[in-house]
Amino acid sequence: MKKEKVVYLDNNATTKVAEEVVCEMQPFFTELYGNPSSMHYFGGRVQEYLDIARLRVANLLGAKPEEIIFTSCGTESDSTAILSAIKANPEKKHIITTSVEHPGVLNVCKYLESSKSYKITYLSVDKEGRINLDELKGAINEHTAIISIMWANNETGVIFPVEEAAKIAASRNILFHTDAVQATGKIPIDLKNSKIDMLSISGHKIHAPKGIGALYIKKGTMFSPFLLGGHQEKGRRAGTENVPYIVGLGMAAELAEKNLKKENSYVKKLRDKLEKGIIKTIENVRVNGGGAERLPNSLNISFEYVEGESILIFLSEKGICASSGSACTSGSLDPSHVLLAMRVPLTFAHGSIRFSFSVYNTEEDVDAVIKELPEIIKKLRVISPFAEGKPLFGEECSVEHKH
Ligand code: PLP
Repeated sequence: MKKEKVVYLDNNATTKVAEEVVCEMQPFFTELYGNPSSMHYFGGRVQEYLDIARLRVANLLGAKPEEIIFTSCGTESDSTAILSAIKANPEKKHIITTSVEHPGVLNVCKYLESSKSYKITYLSVDKEGRINLDELKGAINEHTAIISIMWANNETGVIFPVEEAAKIAASRNILFHTDAVQATGKIPIDLKNSKIDMLSISGHKIHAPKGIGALYIKKGTMFSPFLLGGHQEKGRRAGTENVPYIVGLGMAAELAEKNLKKENSYVKKLRDKLEKGIIKTIENVRVNGGGAERLPNSLNISFEYVEGESILIFLSEKGICASSGSACTSGSLDPSHVLLAMRVPLTFAHGSIRFSFSVYNTEEDVDAVIKELPEIIKKLRVISPFAEGKPLFGEECSVEHKH
């Protein structure tokens, strides 16, 4: 299937690597291939570039360079943070997280829970996908080792009050980690006066390549490494550094820091145009998290009585790439755990699509979706066995648009 132009609206899944990033990385494959741990000058030169990348990532987060370690991805950063916290507090057997985390956090918690020695509290969300800080306060007990709450949700874009949550954690002397993989580069993050102890980021969400991440570890935080071996990253993450990718992440971080404000308003304009365009042209839709504070680039929208996967296939036929909320990676067509936690009625939840923008998108991309989508939904509703009937389940919709 040959497509003239890809309309790529799946930037929360991954992003295009920026040309500046590719250029920055290139010499580290061909000329500057030394091992930064080597004693000779050739290794030493490479080490200097690692230091620059670390500074660039630190600057994006308002952190100090020595508070950043490089990892292989956001998932590794999440595992490292949580497992380090429980190692630092071996007598504490309770973890608090939310019911809507990415599997990078959720599955570490489930693994610990399955060992029977850990108890996990999964904070609920309201129908807009927001957490409640009073529920967090009530969940804390003397056994709590760590609180891990994502900065922004990958499916809905809903932003969580992590700074306030971290203050609550600090007041009870509990470590606080945030998965900021989706928030980084999209909204300002400044850890200078923050109570956040650990924060995960991932390169491929901010126009660096896949397979590189970083973990912020606040100075003074008790820490034990996840990967054991060599002395790299000052003993905090063993394994020869992925120099080209680290350099790429550094460049991506610098670009994100420089362009954040401008890019945010740009993608928000596109997102809002798409949201309004869909609401205007298609009946019975619901914006998931539409009443909450959201990332400027994310739109999670449900179409009643249709299957999200079918919408994706039809969109893909037209060269438009988005993603659905279903847990199709697990081989099931159940609605996503995020939408279920938000109690989105099943007749809507099954028909959810996530559109996520980056600075490489244009107004034409939005126009293409608004042109194609109404016809696709119309076709699918004609063949839907439920389209003429009543909703099968409750009607807890807030930002729902019926013409
Ligand atoms: N956390 C969140 C919120 C994510 O969206 C993702 C990726 O989708 C990850 C963690 C995992 O990051 P990585 O793909 O770098 O392992």
